[in-house]
Amino acid sequence: MIRQRTLKAPVTATGVGLHSGAKVTITLRPAAPNAGVTFRRLDLSNAADLKVGATKVTDTRLCSALVEGAVKVSTVEHLMSALAGLGVDNVLIDLDGPEVPIMDGSANTFVYLLQSVGFVDQPAPKRFLQILKTVEVSDGDKWARLDPFDGFKLTFSIQFDHPAVERTAQALTIDLAKVSYARDIARARTFGFVQEVEALRDIGLIQGGNLDNAVVVDEYRVLNAEGLRYADEFVKHKVLDAIGDLFLVGFPIIGAFSAHKSGHELNNRLLRAVLAEEASHRIISFENSAEAPRTVLDWVLKAA
Ligand SMILES: [Zn+2]
Repeated sequence: MIRQRTLKAPVTATGVGLHSGAKVTITLRPAAPNAGVTFRRLDLSNAADLKVGATKVTDTRLCSALVEGAVKVSTVEHLMSALAGLGVDNVLIDLDGPEVPIMDGSANTFVYLLQSVGFVDQPAPKRFLQILKTVEVSDGDKWARLDPFDGFKLTFSIQFDHPAVERTAQALTIDLAKVSYARDIARARTFGFVQEVEALRDIGLIQGGNLDNAVVVDEYRVLNAEGLRYADEFVKHKVLDAIGDLFLVGFPIIGAFSAHKSGHELNNRLLRAVLAEEASHRIISFENSAEAPRTVLDWVLKAA
């Protein structure tokens, strides 16, 4: 059986919220089989639990935020990416503020925290959302699509006519059965253009953003003294974001994602389009591992 996975023990870290700039403490805790990923706002008194789901995503201007009733949690995508990348199914996430801390702007710190406590397989079959037919959404020249595929693969292209980005590869395909998420994807940082930073600060966003948690580029070059972590760090971060955005559906996806110039909002519209069309997908688990496609096994084993 391909089993569900949770953490061996709780683990805590402190950081700042990208948008609020406020200090926030996060604790990742083991959770029961079939519990899924749940955020708990410790700073709110009532009904402060929020289980992830594609239809709870909102306010996707610069990050993926979840809202249910009076409970909101922002900037969930890098943590969700780390959980998906490491194959975690069930986790309870305590926060004492409205935003997941930005850490270094990548998923690397979350991967480190999760790997430092380790994982346990649980006595319940892992459930996947399998894509059965192609679903595509678009917005002008931007589009995002999910196709049937025996594994999990992402193809992404960006198009910035910006010297610092143009010098890097702007297209990328990653097959999760063939790479290590932790080594090959997790370290890609979010990025921003210095011209936009002032404007965003003026409307109260990215108060906690700086060169320690983002790649910042001006007209011609990367301003971070240490340069890029990957030669294709910009498009790789878009893949990292997409992995997190897709996991907001509540299940790891068996399928191939491809997108051009997509972002959090379009990625979420794609999930909603999949859910709206019953024939496009099914929830599947493998009681007998031998019945799982080789690429699904390779992906799940690699994630461990
Ligand atoms: Zn991001």
